[in-house]
Amino acid sequence: MIEAVFAADSPLVDFVRASPNHGERRGRAAPDAIVLHYTGMPTAEGALDRLCAADAQVSCHYFVFEDGRIAQLVPEARRAWHAGLSFWAGENDMNSASIGIEIVNPGHDGGAPPFPRAQVEAVARLCADIMERRAIAPERVLAHSDISPGRKVDPGEAFPWEVLAAAGLCLADPAPAARDGMTLARGATGAPVRALQEALARFGYRCEATGVYDAATETVVAAFQRRFRRARVDGVADVRTRAAVESLRAPVA
Ligand SMILES: [Zn+2]
Repeated sequence: MIEAVFAADSPLVDFVRASPNHGERRGRAAPDAIVLHYTGMPTAEGALDRLCAADAQVSCHYFVFEDGRIAQLVPEARRAWHAGLSFWAGENDMNSASIGIEIVNPGHDGGAPPFPRAQVEAVARLCADIMERRAIAPERVLAHSDISPGRKVDPGEAFPWEVLAAAGLCLADPAPAARDGMTLARGATGAPVRALQEALARFGYRCEATGVYDAATETVVAAFQRRFRRARVDGVADVRTRAAVESLRAPVA
């Protein structure tokens, strides 16, 4: 079956390649978040084919090539299937809440090569366009790894979030001043662990405040580091990581 071509939502789109993999957004009329992904496949063509194959049951709204070209696969009004099992700030159906952007990159399995400048700039322009048209806040521009920690690691710590942050398109590493404190790691218990878990949960992550630094906590801390402390992604909440979590406590509306 050939999916009917639709009109692109963004003037930045180079071509439309319609994917059959989408449905109605549930419980909301319009998206209020953007989720960034990497394709994690050896070639752009292979990834694009898969996102448009009915039996693959996956899709995204936008697909950004390494040279900066942009394809649209699903209309923004529709629910694309990029997030899977996910959670952010109380929302369990991030496919309904978001616009998904796939960025061509072979990912961790492909050696995590850098994202070309032209591609990053195209992602930034696209985010700016979507955010302006839909009044999406910078703190709602997320990584797949933020909303599906433990299951997904994309777009990965090689993605230069600072380029987007410099343009006000996502939250930046707050680079907190060094201060004294404990390093918290697997096995730690008590009030400081609970405070860390509560701060991560307030920010948006699914993180239960148990007071026990368990495997799930370690996974969420690693997800946080993948965004905001990319030089070291190890799931250990050292002083620098803890200070960053504290200073990024986004006010939940
Ligand atoms: Zn993804």
